[in-house]
Amino acid sequence: MNIETSGWHPPHCPNPNCKYHNGSTDSWCYKRKGWYTRLARPRRIQRFTCLHCNRTFSTQTYSTTYWQRLPKLDMQIFMMTVGCMANRQIARAVDVSPETINRHIARLGRHCMLLHAKLMERAIAHSTVVIDGFETFELSQYYPFHHNVAVDVDTGFFLYHTDSPLRRKGRMTDFQKQRREELEKLNGRPDPQAVRKGVVNLLEEITKRRSTIAIRSDEHPAYRPAIRSIDCDVRHEVTNSKDHRDKRNPLWEVNLLDLLIRHGTAAHKRETIAWPKRRQASAERLSILQVWRNVIKRRWEKGAPESPAMLKGLVSRLLSVEDVLEKRLFRTRVELSEVWERYYDRMVVTTALGVNRRHELTYAY
Ligand SMILES: [Zn+2]
Repeated sequence: MNIETSGWHPPHCPNPNCKYHNGSTDSWCYKRKGWYTRLARPRRIQRFTCLHCNRTFSTQTYSTTYWQRLPKLDMQIFMMTVGCMANRQIARAVDVSPETINRHIARLGRHCMLLHAKLMERAIAHSTVVIDGFETFELSQYYPFHHNVAVDVDTGFFLYHTDSPLRRKGRMTDFQKQRREELEKLNGRPDPQAVRKGVVNLLEEITKRRSTIAIRSDEHPAYRPAIRSIDCDVRHEVTNSKDHRDKRNPLWEVNLLDLLIRHGTAAHKRETIAWPKRRQASAERLSILQVWRNVIKRRWEKGAPESPAMLKGLVSRLLSVEDVLEKRLFRTRVELSEVWERYYDRMVVTTALGVNRRHELTYAY
């Protein structure tokens, strides 16, 4: 973030427990409190103190590069992540360790969740939405899962995503069947209702503040009960998934999103060696792709310079990565759904892996 400190004013107190963190800052008083120097440019950083809660902070507190040693890295990583590079490939390209890339992608994912949630606060009602389960797996093919995704049919805006772990199905050799038994004994079997539950979470979010909506989907058996259980008048239009998948197919917008996810994310390419190791990390990457799809990428590659977010009236121009990463968003100032709160706090556990790192950092958000 390029902050001219002379005329610059902090937008709110960064302390979530201060009364000037959320809400009106009309009577907020703070004072300038010297400078500190650092290695990256700009080297001199202005410090402040909140006169209500005494928290000290700086211009950096409001930057997406807060607590980072290499402030330029995030923009590069963002574009490489949606440009189908795997974490280790990115690490080699920007010359840092793979672990650094993992941390940066997780943080970018969290930033994108907040940015998307803020955009959605102002979103005009969507009348027709198409949903689908994007099938992929974590750790190994014994652990398939769905990213349940929803797209606004009129604008191509990628509305929301949740996930549902699945039981491995389809053709298996005798050895594979036996291995599945062993693994299920060890780690338990996924909830057979997981798709319905994940889709209910998805639908609850997209039907918020709405009384009627049209939902298009394929004939997955979990969709009907999921739709019946939500508190909204839904017209459900089912399309056979074997129908030819061109632009005239009613599911076209979500088929296109599936293609973009496979095209843009190394982890979801067919026959890849970069498959996701954790559902949690896959959700973070998907959130980055979601923001890129909605505000940076044109709706049609060869069409007018318009993004889905512009068509939805949420932004007035195509945004750049710099725009997306311009301001730090505070978790405590943005409302997230229960599912995304879990994503934000890194609470999604891959049972077969012993170590699942939570997000418990206080300052490095
Ligand atoms: Zn304060």
